[in-house]
Amino acid sequence: MELVTKRPRGTEDKLPKEIYKWHTVEKIAENVAESYGCKEIRTPTFEHTELFLRGVGGTTDVVQKEMYTFNDKKGRSITLKPEGTSGAVRATIENGLLNDALPFKTYYFTRCFRYEAPQSGRLREFNQVGIEYLGTASAAADAEIIALANDIITNLGLKNIRLELNSIGCPKCREQYHKALKEYYTRYKDELCGTCLERLERNPMRLLDCKSEICSSYKDGAPMILDYLCDDCKAHFDSVKKRLDALGVKYTVNPRIVRGLDYYTNTVFEFISNDIGSQGTICGGGRYNGLVEEIGGAATPGLGFAMGLERIIMVMENQQLDFEPEKKCDLYIASFDEETNIYAMELVKQLREYGFWAECDISGRSFKAQMKYANKINAVYCMVIGEDELKTKSAKLKRMSDGTETPVTLDDKFAQKLNTLVMDICL
Ligand code: ATP
Ligand code: MG
Repeated sequence: MELVTKRPRGTEDKLPKEIYKWHTVEKIAENVAESYGCKEIRTPTFEHTELFLRGVGGTTDVVQKEMYTFNDKKGRSITLKPEGTSGAVRATIENGLLNDALPFKTYYFTRCFRYEAPQSGRLREFNQVGIEYLGTASAAADAEIIALANDIITNLGLKNIRLELNSIGCPKCREQYHKALKEYYTRYKDELCGTCLERLERNPMRLLDCKSEICSSYKDGAPMILDYLCDDCKAHFDSVKKRLDALGVKYTVNPRIVRGLDYYTNTVFEFISNDIGSQGTICGGGRYNGLVEEIGGAATPGLGFAMGLERIIMVMENQQLDFEPEKKCDLYIASFDEETNIYAMELVKQLREYGFWAECDISGRSFKAQMKYANKINAVYCMVIGEDELKTKSAKLKRMSDGTETPVTLDDKFAQKLNTLVMDICL
């Protein structure tokens, strides 16, 4: 037999034996986000394409090259979400959440879809955790959201991560800057890639984000946005830095960061690891004061970030960090025939109500094969129900690691007894 087809290029199967790593990362991210007052939002996997054209921006790589876009059966253009911010912000506006207490703080876990050249750390379907704050323009919010990202990274135990920070100003300061950039890049017009030639007209700052060898080689000599910031934007950036200093969040200013999406303003940042090769950016974010209005809401400042979970797990594996250990089966109950198996099933049902991972035979296996299975799944305890046990309602709990046996009565205190024994092992 041959499999009909294999998984599409650039996608991954996250298998049960690895899933505890995902649970560790998700739990920590969720705990940190909630400690900052964020509540989870879940939005659709696909949206009308217009949302991303506006919410990500027509001059970005994502929109120009990477979106999974198709027409549905009614001929509407649909896109699988390439990032989480646009959907979260759309949902916030559409559901009137900006009329509630501001700032509105939310977090989400989402799959993202981008048609990219697959390589280590770059997939066509990948996972992000994202945070968005809406309704605050203060530098305090920029500092808080960066601290939040930093807390997730620290709580996961990631080492050697650097935070790079920049300000890309507001539309006002960018006017002058765009002029300077245009002047600079026009000198190299003959060598720029086709996409950048178009960007030169529409959004010259995007040129700094081009991944092509030739375009990116001119980045170093390009004018820097920090030299063009207006007084307000300068003051905002200084305040963000001052607050990060006070919070003990270390950063370096990298005037070359512009970020991938169009509607960023002021603060932009990336957390980068050198341990996983060239795709080392594990988190990217910034302020996007233009976005809410751009997609049809009342002008509302906002900011956010997204972390690539595959890349985070790669760093953790690379640094041999601890994930929360995989759960183990607390008790396997072996039996001999239909009658004892039914009793085993009843006991298992009770134990599950107490939250134990308990199992018994559901495959009609021989006693020997059941014990083999209990070993395979690494059951911590095992118990045998035979005719005697059934009659006397008593049995022995056998600790699989060393064979120690503890007699137990199969009454309503049984679950508590098992709990004490399991807790003892954990200690
Ligand atoms: P890059 O410069 O690596 O293409 P980006 O600017 O396109 O990143 P964002 O849109 O900021 O990325 O996404 C946030 C995070 O999601 C990134 O920092 C990264 O960790 C992760 N990410 C982005 N694209 C991919 C991908 N194709 N595969 C896996 N993770 C990704
Ligand atoms: Mg990208």
